[in-house]
Amino acid sequence: MSKDAPLTVAVIGAGIVGLCAALEIQRDGHHVILIEPGEPGGRQSASYGNATWINPGAIAPISLPGLWRKVPGFLLDRTGPFTVRWRDLPRHAGWLARFIAAGRDWDRIATSARQRYPLCKGTVVDHRNYAAEAGVSDLIRQQGLMYVYPDRTVFAAESRIWSLRREFGVRFSEIEEAELRRLQPELSPHYRFGARLDDAGQIADPGAYCAALARLLEARGMRRIAGRATGFVMERGRLSAVTTDQGSLSCDRAVLAAGIGSASLARLAGDRVPLISERGYHVVIPEPGIALGVGLMPSDGQMGVVSTPQGLRLAGQVELADPAAAPDWRRTDILLGYARKMFPEQAMRFDTAEIDRWMGNRPSTPDALPCIGFASRSRDILHAFGHAHTGLTQAPATGKLVAALIDGREPPFDPVPYSARRFAQ
Ligand SMILES: Cc1cc2nc3c(=O)[nH]c(=O)nc-3n(C[C@H](O)[C@H](O)[C@H](O)COP(=O)(O)OP(=O)(O)OC[C@H]3O[C@@H](n4cnc5c(N)ncnc54)[C@H](O)[C@@H]3O)c2cc1C
Repeated sequence: MSKDAPLTVAVIGAGIVGLCAALEIQRDGHHVILIEPGEPGGRQSASYGNATWINPGAIAPISLPGLWRKVPGFLLDRTGPFTVRWRDLPRHAGWLARFIAAGRDWDRIATSARQRYPLCKGTVVDHRNYAAEAGVSDLIRQQGLMYVYPDRTVFAAESRIWSLRREFGVRFSEIEEAELRRLQPELSPHYRFGARLDDAGQIADPGAYCAALARLLEARGMRRIAGRATGFVMERGRLSAVTTDQGSLSCDRAVLAAGIGSASLARLAGDRVPLISERGYHVVIPEPGIALGVGLMPSDGQMGVVSTPQGLRLAGQVELADPAAAPDWRRTDILLGYARKMFPEQAMRFDTAEIDRWMGNRPSTPDALPCIGFASRSRDILHAFGHAHTGLTQAPATGKLVAALIDGREPPFDPVPYSARRFAQ
């Protein structure tokens, strides 16, 4: 609980990041106003349709040394896990160049891992605690998560990433073929080796979880505004209101957690952030005839494959494209192709099932770090966006950091690496 008079804090965006920030700010005794045009964790948000992984081992960025050699292939192969829409390429070329540069050597990867680790490490415990408070403990699964490989040599090719995880104390087990068959009998014999992140988990239904967190916040006094934030009223660096399409809302502080919608508001707060959408897709196959004990990630498809209350979800693909452009549903056919490849005995069922197809926007910076911390034009505005592939994992730590900065407490870890000002240099 804050030692000073309670503040009124406007949180912009009710995805998982805004909701976790709101919970932590409310815990300090402040009043929260949540501004969101859709339902909290609704289909409009990345937080709805992701792969459900909460993963303390998500410390490595996506851009790794040697990526530049693969980009031409990605541009030509329309069925791979990464694609750029040709017509959007000129607009994204600068971002792509920075993205590749950020991962160009292993020293940079080690630095990035050091900076990502505090955001990831406590995720399962934090989400378990929130879920218990919200009365939805059943949505948290803690059986681990497993990468599956055609064989050990493919795993060995990723040994630097796994060594890095080991250095940070991330526990994992190597699963040989017989054990893999025992754990997941339906999995195709194509996959003969697994690496299980023992302390990772899942939020079985992230949309329902976000809705439950919003109900908890409202029960504790949060005010919810069904509207879109459009700007800030500031004078000499002090914030007095957030403007919205529903009118102006007086507040002392604002947290910008609008996912892909954050860049234009960040600019008004003095920060130009190269934030683009790495669009991703999911398919959900109802009644698939398989129940996965642990979530899987096939090394060849690079997507999360998980059991959810609605069915088997395959979530992945990276498509650099305008967030407002029509989805390219062929990306979901690629995911379905992997469902058939991974579970050949069930493939017939998949052909007749009523598949839910979804596209969402990962809010991505080129250096795989979110923007968290004070805005340049006002210390009353705090950024909390840009979590790309790992926002579900990193939301609780982000919320704690933002709450500490608002409250003037010693931050739980160093906020400097996440400052939006790094892009001004
Ligand atoms: C296919 C896929 C798989 C993924 N898998 C995982 C995974 O397994 N594990 C993991 O950790 N992460 C995963 N992610 C990433 C994760 O989903 C995102 O990083 C995270 O959901 C981002 O949360 P957010 O709250 O920042 O944004 P969002 O969830 O997008 O929420 C932002 C909210 O802000 C609202 N908004 C926008 N503009 C405004 C405005 N002007 N005013 C008010 N509100 C506004 C939007 O309506 C939206 O509801 C995945 C993402 C995708 C697409």
